[in-house]
Amino acid sequence: MIKQRLVVLGGGESGVGTALLGLDRGFEVFVSDKGKIKEVYKQVLINNEIEWEDETHTESKILNADLVMKSPGIPDKVAMVMAIRANGIPVVSEIEFAAAFTDGTIVGITGSNGKTTTASLTYHLLKNDLNVGLAGNIGDSFAKQVLEHNYENYVLEISSFQLDDIIDFKPKIAVLLNITPDHLDRYDYEFEKYIRSKFRIAMNQSKSDYLIYDADDEVITNHLKKHPVQSTLLPFSLEKPVGNGAYLDNDEIKITINNNKIVMPTTKLALEGKHNIKNAMAASTVAHLLKIRKQTIRESLENFQGVEHRLEQVLKINKVQYINDSKATNVNATYYALESMDAPTVWIVGGVDKGNNYEELFSFVNEKVKAIICLGVDNEKLMQTFGNMVDVIVETQFMSEAVKIAYKLAESGDNVLLSPACASFDLFENYEDRGRQFKESVRNL
Ligand code: ADP
Repeated sequence: MIKQRLVVLGGGESGVGTALLGLDRGFEVFVSDKGKIKEVYKQVLINNEIEWEDETHTESKILNADLVMKSPGIPDKVAMVMAIRANGIPVVSEIEFAAAFTDGTIVGITGSNGKTTTASLTYHLLKNDLNVGLAGNIGDSFAKQVLEHNYENYVLEISSFQLDDIIDFKPKIAVLLNITPDHLDRYDYEFEKYIRSKFRIAMNQSKSDYLIYDADDEVITNHLKKHPVQSTLLPFSLEKPVGNGAYLDNDEIKITINNNKIVMPTTKLALEGKHNIKNAMAASTVAHLLKIRKQTIRESLENFQGVEHRLEQVLKINKVQYINDSKATNVNATYYALESMDAPTVWIVGGVDKGNNYEELFSFVNEKVKAIICLGVDNEKLMQTFGNMVDVIVETQFMSEAVKIAYKLAESGDNVLLSPACASFDLFENYEDRGRQFKESVRNL
């Protein structure tokens, strides 16, 4: 039999995972990356005798593919991708490719914010009782886990870029956390296109599959009204009771699925902030659907340690709490960070502004923020926007200096919050680097 030729564009975690899985399932595999492939991944390709190239795309080795897996980071507008499509070669994402090789139950989690937190929490709720893998932006790629572990269940964190290139991918349980404008550069600056992309998570679902979603999010509910889905709907809400689904009743989360109820006190949740109550509702609904014992769900919600760089409590120095929320790369994430502050806050903000509208933060800034430290190459917009709102606003381009200034400004009982609302690429390698530098500077105080 002639082997099918699989070309993998992008030699990162998902690309190399796909290459390995493809090789194992009998494809002739070629990996091509326009950038530089990291040394660790090169070694994996070499050890497995997979042909590869980097810093170039050789058309003659790509346009003869039967199937192309495109890494989510590569935009559709790249010339090579356009040429592939023009040649009628199917282009899929890693989740599409890998899902075809597993019978495992898939929980797919998407949204503009909270994916990693909710996927990690869901995994934490399931892992004691079920054979389950966690993949997405976290750890080993989904494809590699299908190859190496063949779990019975997968919790997948799924970006809109992954969803753009699915054909048959169908999670048994889909979670849609929220939709706020983000990554619009990849969607022709049309919010509607981005919304449609997120809803692709449910496009292949039928009545026997579930869509868990935030019923307080009007972008989601309006879209659902106009474009109904086949899935069985399980809404969650902080504001109003729901039938099947989850809602907040005073200090209790109540979840009902077909008359089977579970009640959990929010006072014992390990994670703070309203947004985390939502994340907890979504994760617990998944756990309840998968028949995890109520006691296990309750205990796991209480002892979940959280995820690095997401409202991470770093240290308390002179009764000042330092909090690392470096992953807040858009305004909505910072909104929830400021909302959850329960003490006067020195706020470190800034970076690459993705066309931010800061208005929704104004009331929290007026109410809770005592000083602002702008940390970016261009702080002009922040200084103009918030200059009149706080007594102290300063700027710097060094994390260590930002933290030292914060240390001077904060008094006993205050918080120092790094929640940038911006991308990190002007001064840092990525948000992890920014968060690590923050923590290191705090430890050096
Ligand atoms: P993602 O993987 O979608 O980027 P993360 O879990 O990494 O999401 O969190 C990104 C940022 O968003 C963090 O600052 C976090 O505190 C905040 N966040 C977490 N959950 C939510 C939510 N449900 N709504 C809004 N912001 C959230």
